[in-house]
Amino acid sequence: MHALVLDEPGRPLRAVERPSPPLLPGQVRIRISACGVCRTDVHIRDGELREPKLPLVLGHQIVGRVVDGEGFPADARVGVPWLGWTCGECRYCQTGRENLCERALFTGYTLDGGFAEETVAYAAYCLPLPAGPDDSELAPLLCAGLIGYRALRLAGDAERLGLYGFGASAHIVAQLARSEGRRVFAFTREGDDEAQSLARELGADWAGSSDRPAPDELDAAIIFAPVGALVPLALRSVARGGTVVCAGIHMSDIPSFPYELLWQERSIRSVANLTRADGTELLERVAQAPVRTVVERFPLMAAEEALDSIRSGRLRGAAVLTP
Ligand SMILES: [Zn+2]
Ligand SMILES: [Zn+2]
Repeated sequence: MHALVLDEPGRPLRAVERPSPPLLPGQVRIRISACGVCRTDVHIRDGELREPKLPLVLGHQIVGRVVDGEGFPADARVGVPWLGWTCGECRYCQTGRENLCERALFTGYTLDGGFAEETVAYAAYCLPLPAGPDDSELAPLLCAGLIGYRALRLAGDAERLGLYGFGASAHIVAQLARSEGRRVFAFTREGDDEAQSLARELGADWAGSSDRPAPDELDAAIIFAPVGALVPLALRSVARGGTVVCAGIHMSDIPSFPYELLWQERSIRSVANLTRADGTELLERVAQAPVRTVVERFPLMAAEEALDSIRSGRLRGAAVLTP
């Protein structure tokens, strides 16, 4: 099979031809038809996340069909998300917080992922996918959608929701939030008309530059852009009691800010990884109230180009590789 391998962070991915990986007990082999590209892939590729497995096949938003192995019938359409395995024994696993498992393994980071024609994955962490949407359009749900969904829940019942950075995740969250009757305010880089027009198209009340004040007070904000300076900006825009959720795995340093911005029971929190329950819940919701994912497809061998489109902020919606 063809695969792209990261030999060392900071170096371009290298195309290889190699046998399909061996199956371990509890795993399924999957023929990959689509794999979403996430900002986390960029962070790993560029060396901003420490200690990836090396050499590594990136990619943790995999859609494909089961070839063989345990847990699924052959040809079942499954999704492989970021959470690849957990210990089941630690205090986090035992209290419904497997997303925080200290021994967790992550697809495309500490396990090989989906920038390839085939992969193996632990069946208990694969999600059966509903019939209907096209493989490429489902792929972004497996991280952008899932992390976004978890971040939205951690934002509480906020009616006026700010989204900072309007890329793969926010364009899904905006639709989930609208279907719950919330109002969405989208903040993008100065002059990013593409992202702002996409936000309006998907039901945002307002879209504009993140360095401008919100047109209305917000009840909560979710920050998807990896920019620490957005934290005080978002705090400034949220009302008393409001929460600012940082949804990325990596962010530049947060500048210091006056305590006054946090006062009145405002809070800042991060969201880490996902649980299998998040996956099941999101897929059930999407089966009832479909979301439209806007995707740009790239051939497997154009993965570097796809990564760069995220790094530079050029992309509209989500990038997906189609091996
Ligand atoms: Zn654990
Ligand atoms: Zn991701």
